[in-house]
Amino acid sequence: MNIEISRRKFLQGSITLSVIGGMTVTNLFSKEEKNGKIKLTTKTGTSKAKEVATLCEMCVNKCALIARVEDNIVTKLDPNPHFPKSRNMLCARGNAGIQALYDPDRLKSPMIRVGEKGEGKFKKVTWDEAFEYIKEKTVKILDEEKDNRSSFLFCAGEGMAEHTFKTFYQGFGSSNWLNHSSICLQTVASGYGVTIGKYPQADLENAKYIIMAGANRAEAIVTPDTMDGFKNIKSKKNSAKLICIDPRFTNTAAKADKWLAIKPGTDLAFVLALTYVTIKEELYNKEYVNKNFNGFEEYKEMILSNKYTPEWAEKITGIDAKDIYEIAREFMENAPEAIYYPGRRSTFAKNDFQLRRAMAIFQALGAGIDCKGGLVFGDKIKTLSHEELLPMYEQAQSRAVVKDKKNGPGYADCAVVSGGGSWISWRNNFLDGKQPYNVRGMFCYKHNPMMNMPNSVKTAKMLKKMELVVCIDTMPSDTVMYADVVLPECTYLERTDPVKCFSGIEPSIAQRNKVIEPMYDSKPVIEILQGLTNKISKPLFEITKKYDEEVQDAIADATEKEVYAEFDLTIPFKHSQEELNEHAVDQYLEAAQKLKKYGVFYPYMDKYFKQISVNEFEYYPENKKRYSVNGGRAVTPSQKVECNLKNLAKKGVDPMPIWRDEYDYKIPKGKFRLMTGRHAQFTQTGTSNNSMLRDLMYQNYLWINKRVADSKNINFGDMIEVSSKVGKTTLRAYPTEKIAPDNLFFIHGFGQESSALTWAYKNGGNDNAIIEDVIEPVYGAAAMHETNVEIRKV
Ligand code: SF4
Repeated sequence: MNIEISRRKFLQGSITLSVIGGMTVTNLFSKEEKNGKIKLTTKTGTSKAKEVATLCEMCVNKCALIARVEDNIVTKLDPNPHFPKSRNMLCARGNAGIQALYDPDRLKSPMIRVGEKGEGKFKKVTWDEAFEYIKEKTVKILDEEKDNRSSFLFCAGEGMAEHTFKTFYQGFGSSNWLNHSSICLQTVASGYGVTIGKYPQADLENAKYIIMAGANRAEAIVTPDTMDGFKNIKSKKNSAKLICIDPRFTNTAAKADKWLAIKPGTDLAFVLALTYVTIKEELYNKEYVNKNFNGFEEYKEMILSNKYTPEWAEKITGIDAKDIYEIAREFMENAPEAIYYPGRRSTFAKNDFQLRRAMAIFQALGAGIDCKGGLVFGDKIKTLSHEELLPMYEQAQSRAVVKDKKNGPGYADCAVVSGGGSWISWRNNFLDGKQPYNVRGMFCYKHNPMMNMPNSVKTAKMLKKMELVVCIDTMPSDTVMYADVVLPECTYLERTDPVKCFSGIEPSIAQRNKVIEPMYDSKPVIEILQGLTNKISKPLFEITKKYDEEVQDAIADATEKEVYAEFDLTIPFKHSQEELNEHAVDQYLEAAQKLKKYGVFYPYMDKYFKQISVNEFEYYPENKKRYSVNGGRAVTPSQKVECNLKNLAKKGVDPMPIWRDEYDYKIPKGKFRLMTGRHAQFTQTGTSNNSMLRDLMYQNYLWINKRVADSKNINFGDMIEVSSKVGKTTLRAYPTEKIAPDNLFFIHGFGQESSALTWAYKNGGNDNAIIEDVIEPVYGAAAMHETNVEIRKV
């Protein structure tokens, strides 16, 4: 393998972090200099290759792969056929994972900030010095806050080791936990969760009719199951009909039998109209509804009395009434083997939670729940859990939410406080000084709120206001630039992660195995937490002893050693990840060995796993697949589809999905509605510095309607400033007929401000610099498509 990068880029990559005191870059490549270029040559083919089965982490899908290692250098990543979830496929990002490992910009050693927050000036320190710094600041804050453990916020991005970090949060005793849910799938998961019991998977392989609305699966996230889905949609065997509903003509639209352009944020009106036709024409499965629905009569009455007709929806959505009639009839003709695809995306509009409820109910009207060809819950292979530490701290206050006398504790701007919290609301209340006590420090793991949350100016203010920001990450992200202490995690190819169950029609367990030893001075998060808890556990207990009367009484009655055992933060991190994984699958014969050898395990794997053709594998025989796990019923506590949730009304939330005038699509003259989305070759900001992927897509472009562009003398590649009430960003224009005249679109993840990212720095436009912090009112998710913007050619 030869990698060539220009001399300028190479030098930038080596120096941009502004590390005071210098940094030794371990270079695994041999270097030659030729015509002003540095030529890096690995030692591929010089010795016998070793293969290690592991899991990809270039996106959330966790496909199985086989890494080839030669002379301790990872030289190739190949698909691993053993995993039912990824079916011997590795996408472009998966292949480019090798660059995540050898990215010269990686965080290489612990660092402490020496410049202003955001400047990116750090000094290199030892692990002990970094832990000592954290200890001193943490002890000081907790002493001043009288052991209120909730004076610290903990936040994490999605990942197999998120739970490891959460174990630290639980032991520490804070109540302030924020994860990516409220800037990701929160409303989708909750909408389906309260209506049918669980966010389901879609059996695209066996469906005969599929509506994909706002889910650009052919382009936004091309996982192996996307490929299978589309292959089967168009196969002779199945040939399902695909309806694409999207404001843009996407790649999914190009593959669909019918594409209908909808006005952004009006999908709820479309689904209500489909429901109207289904009920009015009595197309639904009456037997199923009678047996398996709660509150259907009220729902029916509401839909009919509100006259949610296709003609009504046409005015709101822009979709012809005749198309709505046709789709409702065709969907119910094919049900239960018909799917209204649940989607796997962020919250776009304020009504998103109600949209998901309406989608789930419409799906269930055709009985396509927990069945082949419909939405499935899937089965799970259980693993054993580990010892956890849940100490009770007398002084720890409950979550920093705003107390509302009428509705109980909440964030003031949303009704329900979920486990993952509302990031955007938490941040805003923190900045406005509305929280009931001081939160002064934060621990941030594998998470980049600077780039992934709307209104990045406010996020920067939040990070500046925090007295201690500790970031555990692999890359110098925009958020890391605001850290006081940086703890470098090794990449996914250098660590073993916790074993994970993958539920589904073909359930399995999979494990990320370490491929090579961690490079530089980086460590897996479990080892980082081992070191950190060794340093801070006792000193923090001293603070608890000082302020916690129950602890003082307990010590008087027993020995201090006995009492400390309940607060010893080191306990959950005493074992290595490999030991914990072996314990987790202890009850299955040979599971631990198979997880090491194949990265995958499921009972009867040896018997079931078969190669069918060159690139086709069978994992379970058809009669063993878990299409149904609850007899076709919902998995809510009542085992019924919940149409009318009266408890929601008590919190000021509509108990049934209804349309409200405030949801209408309105854009002031001269402005545009901004939409954002994903691209198959990028995973948000996580891959934006990956030079291999940048070869495939250099930067993001602003989609603008061609006629509008012509009227403003905007041509392809012209630089355009896009501005909103909260900020501005600049990127190049892509005039096209594939978008409506009053919409604009560009891909998320570009335009980073961290100068330590050679390839991502100021490359393209940053959507979250201009998306306003509009809060979805039920779970407090960030509504990403509610911002109107202006444009200017620069
Ligand atoms: S879909 Fe691609 S990036 Fe995501 S886990 Fe699979 S191979 Fe990796």
